[in-house]
Amino acid sequence: STAKLMEKGTTISVTFKDIAGLKEAKTEVMEVVDFLKNPERYTALGAKIPKGVMLAGPPGTGKTLMARAVAGEAQVPFFSMSGSEFVEMFVGVGASRVRDLFKRAKEKAPSIIFIDEIDAVGRSRGKVNAFQANDERESTLNQLLTELDGFGPNTGVIVLAATNRPDVLDKALLRPGRFDRHIYLELPTQEERIAIFKVHMRPLKLAKTVNVENLAKMSPGFSGADIANLCNEAALIAARKKKTQVGHVDFMQARDRVIGGIERKSKIISPKE
Ligand code: ATP
Repeated sequence: STAKLMEKGTTISVTFKDIAGLKEAKTEVMEVVDFLKNPERYTALGAKIPKGVMLAGPPGTGKTLMARAVAGEAQVPFFSMSGSEFVEMFVGVGASRVRDLFKRAKEKAPSIIFIDEIDAVGRSRGKVNAFQANDERESTLNQLLTELDGFGPNTGVIVLAATNRPDVLDKALLRPGRFDRHIYLELPTQEERIAIFKVHMRPLKLAKTVNVENLAKMSPGFSGADIANLCNEAALIAARKKKTQVGHVDFMQARDRVIGGIERKSKIISPKE
C-alpha cells in the first residue's frame, strides 16, 4: 500500500473538526494550510514559504492526525513515509524511496509529504554507538537533507515531520530552510479530554449513564489516542454483553484495559532509553 501512496498521494477527508483541543497547534498549522492554498499572498511580497514543519509531542497526541488535517483542509494530495521503515532496509533502498517520494510530490504540487517517526532516520549521528551504526539510516538521512535543499521554497510542496523525540534529532535537520518550524503538541488537559471524548463518542450509541466530564476527570495522562481507544473498547465491551447502548460501566471496564495497556507499553519502552 505504501507503493500505491507513493504513486499518487492520497486524498484525505480529515479536517480540523476531527481534532479536539490543541488550539495553539491548530492555529499554527492553519498557517501551513494557507501557504498551500494561497501561496501568491506570500510570494507577492517576496516571502519564502517554509518548506519543513516539525510536529513534536508524546505518542498519540495527534501529530499524524494534524498532518492529515492539513492535507484535508488544503485539499492537496498527501504522500507519507515512516522513518522506521528504513532502519531494516538494504543500503540504497531508503535513499531511493526518499528521492521517489519527493519526485512524485513535486509532480502533484501543491502537496504534502508527511514523514512519521523522523527520529528513526534523523537521530543525531553522535548519539549512535559504533555497534549500532546503521549505514542505511545515514544514507536515508543524507538523501532527505539533499531533497530538502534541492527544491525551491515556493514549489508548493510542504514537508511535515513527526517525532516523540525532538531532543535526539540531528541538528542538520533543524537548520534554516529545512525543518525550521516547530509545533508542539502536549498531552490534553482535562478540558481538552472532554472535547476529545466528545469527538470519539460521536459515532457511539450512548446510555444516559455516561458522563463525559467524569470520564475526563478519571483519565489523567491519557493521550488522544488512548481516549479514542477507550471509547471504542467501551463499545466493544457493551456489544459483547449484547447491550443496545454503551453505558458507564462499559467505559469503566474499558478504562481499566486501556490503563493496563499504557502500563505495559511504558514498561517495555523505559529500559531502552
Ligand atoms: P504517534 O506518535 O504514536 O504516531 P500521533 O501523535 O501521531 O502518535 P495520532 O496517530 O495522530 O497520534 O493519533 C492517534 C489517534 O488518536 C487519532 O487517529 C485520533 O483518533 C486520536 N486523537 C489523538 N489526538 C486527538 C485529538 N486532539 N482530537 C481527537 N482525536 C485525537
